[in-house]
Amino acid sequence: MLTPAVSEDLSQLVRLQAAGLADGCRAASAGRGLFGLDAEALAACMVAAGEPAWRGRQLAEALYRQRVAELNEITTLPKSLRTRLTAEGWQVGRPAITQVFQSVDGTERYLVECPGGDGLTVETGVPGDRSIVAGVVETVWMPEGDEGETGDGSDAETLQTLGAPSFPRSLAERVGNHEPQSESGQEETVSAGDLGERRSRATLCLSSQVGCAVNCQFCFTAKLGLQRNLSTGEIAGQVVAVFSRHAVEVGRDRVNLVFMGMGEPFLNYDNFMGAVRLLVREVGLSPQRMTVSTSGIVPGIERFAAEPPEFRPKLAISLNAPNDQIRNEIMPINRKWPIESVMDAVRRVKLRPRERITFEYVLLGGVTDRPKDAAEVARLIRRTGLSAKVNLIAWNPGPGIEYATPQPEAVEAFRKTLIDAGIPAYLRKPRGRDIYAACGQLKRTVEG
Ligand code: SF4
Repeated sequence: MLTPAVSEDLSQLVRLQAAGLADGCRAASAGRGLFGLDAEALAACMVAAGEPAWRGRQLAEALYRQRVAELNEITTLPKSLRTRLTAEGWQVGRPAITQVFQSVDGTERYLVECPGGDGLTVETGVPGDRSIVAGVVETVWMPEGDEGETGDGSDAETLQTLGAPSFPRSLAERVGNHEPQSESGQEETVSAGDLGERRSRATLCLSSQVGCAVNCQFCFTAKLGLQRNLSTGEIAGQVVAVFSRHAVEVGRDRVNLVFMGMGEPFLNYDNFMGAVRLLVREVGLSPQRMTVSTSGIVPGIERFAAEPPEFRPKLAISLNAPNDQIRNEIMPINRKWPIESVMDAVRRVKLRPRERITFEYVLLGGVTDRPKDAAEVARLIRRTGLSAKVNLIAWNPGPGIEYATPQPEAVEAFRKTLIDAGIPAYLRKPRGRDIYAACGQLKRTVEG
């Protein structure tokens, strides 16, 4: 049995997804925002506006490759057309970074304002009037990845041989894009020539929902409960907004995407996969540079296993416990889908050559970090027969949650036990703790 809060939130999800808008030119019935539609749907919108279908390709190029944020900036469209579309209420509608928190370690946490959801609507009290709930989500940019692993399943040694430098902090600000400001409000402007040569790498952590229904006991995001699902455009828009800020060059800079921020992606499956397809088709990213993390939503894993490899990210399972007994306590979702059922579903995912399933494991001092826990995790993973690795994460502390950070010796002993059992294990370096950007810490959004 799930806790009442989880059950309630899960049933809410059913209502959320039922309220989704139809395919095709969704914009025609939802405020005419274009961002989030693929080239085909954009073509449908242009035809609806009395334009030739090939305008859709021009729009896709502008929205996803040139990262244009305003219709009037799409110079491939005639000015008269831009003016007319704007007058008719069409807009780009891309999520925007509204606040930036910068960590001493270079990590940046963003508040990203989403123009509106395509899922949850609320009654306004006026008969016949339903307003779409707007929302703010959090997205985290980690230059240099997080050492032990990149979050996408690549190992540290691969990165070290690349010898890649990190992104300069706030690159977009430095070239004069003043839209997002650091928390201090200070702006620094330099010419593009100052950027110099760079081949950069970073990891971008994305949210899939505002809040989360899953209620993991060690997670701050869980405290929000589920506020609403993000739309396809709101998920993909986090990527494009941050790429724009950091002037990322797709195909040149190495940026890994991890769907590990706020929310459970497999409880917003259609919009999550819609965003993946958009990022692959229109932005030009590889699904092999993307990793989705799930708490173990078995029906979602089964759907995921059936996705074609050209659109399937890598898979991470948020395991966090050595057995059902402990997992039931710290992750109530385990009472619905116990470990063995999760493993059965994961075995259906047809891995690419050299691909591995990642098991994430948050170490809670005295609860999941003991030597016997490590031995049990090793046996559990070996028993699955999966090609796997483990990412260890020392729990990030914060107010209101009564767990303890594990001792460094316990963390190292845990890792050694796994490695001695032949299981690759990496310790994920905590990033952005000082700005509440580390794993499980994303919570500020709706609390102000
Ligand atoms: S750890 Fe992930 S799945 Fe669990 S409550 Fe937090 S955001 Fe949701």
